[in-house]
Amino acid sequence: MRQGSTEMKILIVDDFPTMRRIVKTLLRQSGYNNFLEADDGAHGIELLKSNSDVDFIICDWNMPNINGLEMLKTVRSQGSMREIPFLMVAAESEKDQMLDAVKNGVSNFIIKPFTGAALQEKLMKAFSVKRAS
Ligand SMILES: [Mg+2]
Repeated sequence: MRQGSTEMKILIVDDFPTMRRIVKTLLRQSGYNNFLEADDGAHGIELLKSNSDVDFIICDWNMPNINGLEMLKTVRSQGSMREIPFLMVAAESEKDQMLDAVKNGVSNFIIKPFTGAALQEKLMKAFSVKRAS
């Protein structure tokens, strides 16, 4: 089972290349090294359509074109992708809006800036919640 293991394929969606690099660095420290990257929700959805083996999505909230919430709604409405755990990344100022993400089936969210340990914990939680339900 690749899900939840360090071998899982993680899609990182963020319009800010530096943030994608930070997330990758933190994940690598926890042993993950199988990544796909997209710079907005539209690109993220495109990658999900062409890669049916994505195990986890880490997605920024605030992005041009298709933002995190819109991407979440699309993912949760598509049969092939609807079960993929989806972690939303938000700024402190966007925290109040996370209820919208919860209503739309987000697995969890994390507020910037965060540590590798916090990110790892969110990843693990997404899979334990999924197993429990
Ligand atoms: Mg952004």
